[in-house]
Amino acid sequence: MARRLLLSYLALIALTVAAMAFIIYAATAQTFSHYLSDQAAAHSEMLPVMLAGYQSRYGSWDGVQPNIDEASVLIGAQVTLADAQGRIVAATRRDLVGQMESSDLALGLPISVVGSGGKIVGTVYVGRSLAQQRADAAFLSNVTLELASAGLIVGLLAAGLGVVLARSTSRPLGEMGRAAGRMSQGDYAVRVSFKGQDEVAALARAFNQMAEGMAGVERLRQELVANVSHDLRTPLTVINGYLEGLRSGLIADRQSAEMAFEAMHAEVTRLLRLVDDLRQVTVLDAGMLPLERKSSTVADLTFSVLDRIGPLAAAKGIVLANEVSTHLPALSLDWERMGQVIFNLLENAVRYTAPGGTITVRAGRAEYPNGRGEHLWLAVQDTGEGIPPEHLPHIFDRFYRGDRSRSKAGGGAGLGLAIVQGIVEAHGGQVTAESEGIAGRGSTFTIHLPLA
Ligand code: ADP
Repeated sequence: MARRLLLSYLALIALTVAAMAFIIYAATAQTFSHYLSDQAAAHSEMLPVMLAGYQSRYGSWDGVQPNIDEASVLIGAQVTLADAQGRIVAATRRDLVGQMESSDLALGLPISVVGSGGKIVGTVYVGRSLAQQRADAAFLSNVTLELASAGLIVGLLAAGLGVVLARSTSRPLGEMGRAAGRMSQGDYAVRVSFKGQDEVAALARAFNQMAEGMAGVERLRQELVANVSHDLRTPLTVINGYLEGLRSGLIADRQSAEMAFEAMHAEVTRLLRLVDDLRQVTVLDAGMLPLERKSSTVADLTFSVLDRIGPLAAAKGIVLANEVSTHLPALSLDWERMGQVIFNLLENAVRYTAPGGTITVRAGRAEYPNGRGEHLWLAVQDTGEGIPPEHLPHIFDRFYRGDRSRSKAGGGAGLGLAIVQGIVEAHGGQVTAESEGIAGRGSTFTIHLPLA
């Protein structure tokens, strides 16, 4: 890249300098030659008049040579006279006499000699003397030399500047190439530096954003593997313990064996739930959750979920209050998935509410605050331990558990609310959580679903 850029810079510089030098040289040569002929014309105004007088006096050019020599000395130039037929009859350079005039001879500025009656009787040429011609040639070659050296200096300066420019343009690209190489080797911490606002800077900024995104994905991947292996390990260790007991004969009597199988069954159920949740989270992450929508009312949905969760709440001595009106309009929902949303919210409410507490489900319709039409809301409110403010912003994150040690006992893997959020958003809705973080005052989870 740097080499190609430099080569094009150099080609451009060479072309520009050469063209400039040529134009300046041609202009100088032309101006100089105009200057010379103007000078010749000024010096020789009298010459044609004098020669016309000679012609009218003698009727021919015979014997004119001394006059030509005299004029030549007077005006300091080479003078050549041709007759009306173009034959040279007298000249400062004697060798020309007798030849026919022609542009090849470079005789100088031609001036017609007009005789009496307006007839052209000859042409007198005023040219530079030999010494002058040498001086003229020397002047032009000096100009050429100076132009060439000026061109060389300017060219070298421009080339030096070109090298700096090419380097500074290609450096960030080279840096990005190296950074991309390091990233492909797994180093997601690389960033490229950039200055300014041009396209290269925009590319560098985009590269850094991409690197940040990749680092985020990598972090999530590592977290996922760490969390999953941790969560798989606990139930598998428990099951392994029971199996060891059974094999070694420590768990021998029928009653202990039944208890062991019961416990192992519970752990396997937990494992299956975890694997199921993981699969859901993955599908939701990829944005590939297929929704099988059908017209349903939140009242029907809540009723069916409360039916399932009822025994769990009853076992813990928690009262479930259903205040959902049956008059709310039906929505187009995926019954299974939205059922799972409400189930997860209720299951959490039961889990984090002490015996004797109450869980209330309410629903209603409301305007969106920004006037985007109406929506339905459904809230699950408990009188449990609440969520401390420092946990509140994170509870929808995957694998986030408010209190790890506490959750380990009866809690899930911290995926429940992530799944809730994913499903609600797939329906075009939103889920929010409110809690003062005071035990007994509980928490309220509300889902908002667009109408139609
Ligand atoms: P978990 O499997 O740990 O319940 P969730 O994603 O369902 O995972 O919830 C994440 C965290 O949010 C929980 O660990 C808990 O700290 C907090 N949380 C969720 N629901 C409630 C609730 N109703 N009352 C108090 N805390 C809650």
